[in-house]
Amino acid sequence: MKWALVGASRIAAGYMIRAFRAQPGGAVTAVLSADAQRGAAYAETHGIDRFFDDLDTLLAEADCDAVYISTTNEKHCEQALAAIAAGKHVLCEKPLAMSVADAVRMVRAAEQAGVVFATNHHLRNAGSHLAIRELVSSGRLGPILSVRVFHAVSLPGALRGWRISDAAAGGGVIPDITVHDADTVRFHLGEDPVEVVAQMTNSGLGHGVEDSAMSIWKMPSGAMVSTHESFTHPFAGTGIEIHGTEGSVVARGVMTQDPKGTVTLTDPEGTHDIPYDTHDLYERSMGLFEAAVRGQGRPSADGWDGVKSLAVALAVREAARTGTAQKIDYGV
Ligand code: NDP
Repeated sequence: MKWALVGASRIAAGYMIRAFRAQPGGAVTAVLSADAQRGAAYAETHGIDRFFDDLDTLLAEADCDAVYISTTNEKHCEQALAAIAAGKHVLCEKPLAMSVADAVRMVRAAEQAGVVFATNHHLRNAGSHLAIRELVSSGRLGPILSVRVFHAVSLPGALRGWRISDAAAGGGVIPDITVHDADTVRFHLGEDPVEVVAQMTNSGLGHGVEDSAMSIWKMPSGAMVSTHESFTHPFAGTGIEIHGTEGSVVARGVMTQDPKGTVTLTDPEGTHDIPYDTHDLYERSMGLFEAAVRGQGRPSADGWDGVKSLAVALAVREAARTGTAQKIDYGV
């Protein structure tokens, strides 16, 4: 499949270009940057034939079946709508949009146009998370009582731009990381949170946006979920714990872009290491996306998954802002 990049981003350079090219016949044919000079340099560095500084021109002229949108968050909605109107399949970065209503518009537009639309929630493609989901869905843990997500990291220096200082571009740890945690918990438990309470703060990096958040979610089954996201914790490590009546799974170092970390199960027989496959997360995701384009199955995280993760994240921010519990409005 031929891809055009909408956004000359670090995530495309670091992971996605490789994942597109790893598919049979996979190619990246064009890149869009608002700055033509940057676009030219990016195209040359990454061996991309064409660069554009205007989206409509790219959509009209680039030889592509699909576009990957990885601009700053406030641009995703309009760019996705334009690509869908041009008949392109779309992989859009999280958070899909700045509001749930906009995200719903994107997904409905894709449905009406008959194109595949997916959200780049990579974690549900990790071998570690697939193994955890198998433990949960097979009933090995029994009914789930609670989940704890710890996802407090030290934001790398190169990423300390719009994420920590530009609310209008969708900065803040909640749109950046809480959305991933929302998708991951939904993936493991197979249900959508109904209500949240939360706190957020600036603990040294944020300017006009939160750099740290903690929240507690109520699930329809009665399971309780707590999450911690931050940009300011150099040594905390990441992970997820899922506790059931028959067993607990504890996974450390797994809230990451790379296939690493440990997964252990503790049950009445003791504590066991759980083996998992170490495939590339993004390559697996792209394989499923391209299969969906061929009419086989669905992307690992589709548009509605992106709507729901955004709805949870925005409810967390609103709960923290107002100091009140928020019922989650999924916009449907
Ligand atoms: P970047 O900051 O690298 O890129 C965002 C935009 O900033 C680009 O579109 C580009 O504009 C501009 N830009 C990038 N680098 C420079 C530079 N050196 N100088 C000037 N401008 C620059 O963002 P990320 O790659 O970190 O994130 C992009 C999107 O991807 C976000 O929505 C984010 O949430 C998401 N993301 C998702 C991840 C995942 O695993 N799913 C991981 C990381 C990010 P232009 O295109 O106009 O040149």
